[in-house]
Amino acid sequence: MPEESRMPALFVGHGSPVNAIEDNPYSQTWRSLGRSLPRPRAILCISAHWETPQAEVTAMPQPHTIHDFGGFPNALYEAKYPAPGSPWLAEAVQQTLAPLPVGLNQDWGLDHGCWSVLMQMYPQADIPVAQLSLDYTQPPQYHYDLGRKLAPLREQGVLILGSGNIVHNLRRVVVPGNNYERFNEPFGLDWALEAQALFKKLIDADDHAALMRYSELGAAVQLAVPTPEHFLPMLYILGLKQDGETLTYFNDVAMAGSITMTGFVVQ
Ligand code: ZN
Repeated sequence: MPEESRMPALFVGHGSPVNAIEDNPYSQTWRSLGRSLPRPRAILCISAHWETPQAEVTAMPQPHTIHDFGGFPNALYEAKYPAPGSPWLAEAVQQTLAPLPVGLNQDWGLDHGCWSVLMQMYPQADIPVAQLSLDYTQPPQYHYDLGRKLAPLREQGVLILGSGNIVHNLRRVVVPGNNYERFNEPFGLDWALEAQALFKKLIDADDHAALMRYSELGAAVQLAVPTPEHFLPMLYILGLKQDGETLTYFNDVAMAGSITMTGFVVQ
């Protein structure tokens, strides 16, 4: 373990699953984060792609790689991220969140919100990983509060990784020049950029209450967050931010018109 006694917390905009295997500016940033952050004892990932009717945490010793997407190159379906699971972390999450019931899950694995990022950050797949699901029956405040309650895990060497996209509307995707080779190029529609600027202003002001009431923030934000699952992982990471900590953005661009790749480190 390095000197740091508290692990940073991390939100990543994961974007396209191909970022798992492509060498591009987004994945290059993830790689350099993996090299520069203190090495974690274990990783707890909160991904947009695992929603359940009650909170669950993966507890299996060897989670399998879930290929939860369609229409991508074969190489992506063949990709595996064989990191060990962390039954220790699953129990620690259960105890930390008690008396809230958290189910120990034995059959999920690692979805692409989690492994596409970790494959770049920690290509050796030698750090144990557990995933915490999103309880889709709960409002934003619940998710933010859960993040707050997870804070003690940072003192135990756990890297908490929220993986989603702050602005994410797949129905409004626009590919530059209709050329899919250019899918990942920086490009944002006006409303996406407007919503992103507003979100960053609220993040920078630590106005988490306003972010939790995102549905009241106007037309651009309604387009930016048509469904909550890619937005909620960010609330966990904001909930983990302690007094005096700083928040540093990376990959702060829009792509495909309606998705932002923005991530941030809290430390
Ligand atoms: Zn996604």
